[in-house]
Amino acid sequence: MAYIQGEPRNQTSLFPTSIEDLVPEDHLVRVIDAYIARLDLQMLGFDKARPKATGRPPYNPADLLKLYVYGYFFQIRSSRRLEAECQRNVEVMWLLNRLTPDFKTIADFRRDNGIAFAATCRAFVQFCRTAGLVKGDLVAIDGSKFKAVASNRRYVSSKHLKRDLEKLDQRIARYLSTLDEMDQEDGADEINRTAVKAALANLQSRRIDNLTSQALMETMGITQMVCGEDEARMTRAPQGTFIGYNVQSAVDAEHGLVVHHDVVQDSDDRRQLAPMAIATAQVLEQPTLTVTADAGYSNGEHFQACDEVGITAIVPINRGNRAAGGTAPLAQDDFKYDPETDTYECPAGQTLTLTQLNKGTRIYHAQATACGSCALKGACTKAQRRGLKRHVHEPAFERMAKRLKAHPEMMGRRRSIVEHPFGNLKQWALGTGRFLLRQMQGARTEMALAVTSYNLKRAFNILGARRLLEVIA
Ligand code: SF4
Repeated sequence: MAYIQGEPRNQTSLFPTSIEDLVPEDHLVRVIDAYIARLDLQMLGFDKARPKATGRPPYNPADLLKLYVYGYFFQIRSSRRLEAECQRNVEVMWLLNRLTPDFKTIADFRRDNGIAFAATCRAFVQFCRTAGLVKGDLVAIDGSKFKAVASNRRYVSSKHLKRDLEKLDQRIARYLSTLDEMDQEDGADEINRTAVKAALANLQSRRIDNLTSQALMETMGITQMVCGEDEARMTRAPQGTFIGYNVQSAVDAEHGLVVHHDVVQDSDDRRQLAPMAIATAQVLEQPTLTVTADAGYSNGEHFQACDEVGITAIVPINRGNRAAGGTAPLAQDDFKYDPETDTYECPAGQTLTLTQLNKGTRIYHAQATACGSCALKGACTKAQRRGLKRHVHEPAFERMAKRLKAHPEMMGRRRSIVEHPFGNLKQWALGTGRFLLRQMQGARTEMALAVTSYNLKRAFNILGARRLLEVIA
């Protein structure tokens, strides 16, 4: 029996097939094309959005933007691979009207339009809002660490430099004493002496480099630096320690769309709740907003800041052990605070008064004599007297505790809202979760493109191509 046969390669046709015939009516590229056609690229800040009257015509930024949105959608991020796609991929040929920009033009466009990509990402969020895909009732905030373009070997810190300097000094001292011993020996081998001197010179040059780096970092007021990627920071993540950036996202609960994101150097999420929540409320143009995040965002100052601007944050409280007198089974909640007298009353009826103020923490202690004769002391403290810490924003913690009690389901909801976008952004849009572009601006550019593609994918999956095209029109 014969095999299924294709069409002969040299077959001609009376009515040749056009590229238009090869792209289905409901294909994603038609959505990308229609959406980017309606954008005001000049207002978004794209370079060459208005062509000059003279000189060689440039590529239309709309075409290059379409190429990048398509590329990030299909995990094609490198400019050389995008160049290749322009020459062999029928969908890209359709999207770009068979234009074939070279990789340098493609790479330069991404490098020069970072701010415009961020504006495009925001514009798509606004489009989703008008299309009814974003409700803004509940937003979950989460952070994830993405690798920068640098290996751990490029990392230096003041601590490491000081430790290396100590080791270098010890080795230099050892070589100097070896040379002294050789000088005292009459028949010392000249070859060995030359080798020791060369090793010593090498160590002394490394010592000078070390001292120069320390002085430079001190002048710049920094304690850590990554050579070649000086804005990235050493970050800790479940997969280990690496050089990277902390990507923050605010995800709308309705359809899992990322309504706001940011790339920050600080790897600690504890300082991100208020800035992310306030920026999200601005994007959504809402006076009030409910946000949720995990315990890594627990911070009294940020709880207070959210309360002050009308944002309802629901975040598990993570405060560690608050007893100033050591670990104790009697928890702080067993002590009653009196705001009028600014004192605590312990379960034994004794009063704990304010004894110390330390960087926004108020410390209260009971009388040592009272604790010494107390029947509950074994369960209360191992110290001479029981102490308690009260945060300067304690009322904000108390309000948070009440909200958590009223919404026990919120943590489960938070997980289901944020896990999908981050999993997708890391594995789908950014491949291995590593940026291709250097520095914060490069990382921000890539995230803006990845988030735009992710949101486009969500909108495409939710509405379908035909409905999305209708909304865009
Ligand atoms: S040990 Fe001190 S603080 Fe603790 S219950 Fe007894 S009196 Fe109160």
